[in-house]
Amino acid sequence: MKRTIKTLALALCATTLFAMCFLPASAAAFADADGDGRILAADARLVLRASVGLSPWTDEMLKSCDIDNDKSLTSADARLILRLSVGFGNDDDSCLHGMDGAELVGLTSKEYKIYKKDGITYIDGILVANKTYSLPSSYDPGDLLPECKQAFMQMAYDAYYNDGIYLEGISGYRSYATQNRIYNNYVAADGKAEADTYSARPGHSEHQSGLALDVNSVEGSFAYTAEAKWIAENCYKYGFILRYPYGKTDKTGYIYEPWHIRYVGIAIATKIHNSGLCLEEYYGITSKYSY
Ligand SMILES: [Zn+2]
Repeated sequence: MKRTIKTLALALCATTLFAMCFLPASAAAFADADGDGRILAADARLVLRASVGLSPWTDEMLKSCDIDNDKSLTSADARLILRLSVGFGNDDDSCLHGMDGAELVGLTSKEYKIYKKDGITYIDGILVANKTYSLPSSYDPGDLLPECKQAFMQMAYDAYYNDGIYLEGISGYRSYATQNRIYNNYVAADGKAEADTYSARPGHSEHQSGLALDVNSVEGSFAYTAEAKWIAENCYKYGFILRYPYGKTDKTGYIYEPWHIRYVGIAIATKIHNSGLCLEEYYGITSKYSY
């Protein structure tokens, strides 16, 4: 018995030692200056004190609390942390319903919280996939998500029976592997720089999300049709936004695509539509490859 305990103690000791030596220290949580796992006014106070030299800051603290990413702790970071601690009004944490384990990883330039779960980025409760934010290769809904499919069917029905407009989804869900093949074919044909203007690199296509589809035609001339006009004016009523609008290429990272719509739900689609902004501008995020 004694011997068993001794062996057990040794094993435990060895495990702890192994963990201490070989496992990476977990990254400092976002905006958590004192490392207590929560974002409170105390964190803002610590950062404010550090910013004016009343207390030193560590690399760890700089990494987690440099909210505006200017490589220094300033009162601006303290202010942002204070706003985070009281749950400011730019977004609503109820969007995290059903997202247990989502981790707060950053703030957009418009102070929307950026959450990550299973490698997927969520802002304002919606999945974001663009040139900056990718989807893991393991993310595979296999088809358009039911809410997106249903909304599109309703929209197509209404468009046809109310306005005589015929809408047909021609490209919906695309797997990581398919996108990989498509993108590489384009690169082989047109070169990487050219391909990047109209085709997404694998993991960066919104089609992988199961929340986006191309309607009717992917020819440039589609822009001048009654169908394209109808989509631009009405799709938000069904929860869709025109994802790559005209004149927003420097923001979205893609040429004008009057056929590509993205499901975000009616509430958010209406807000984005009324703002006249593209999704990147609305949330204050970029769409640029980092590699
Ligand atoms: Zn598309």
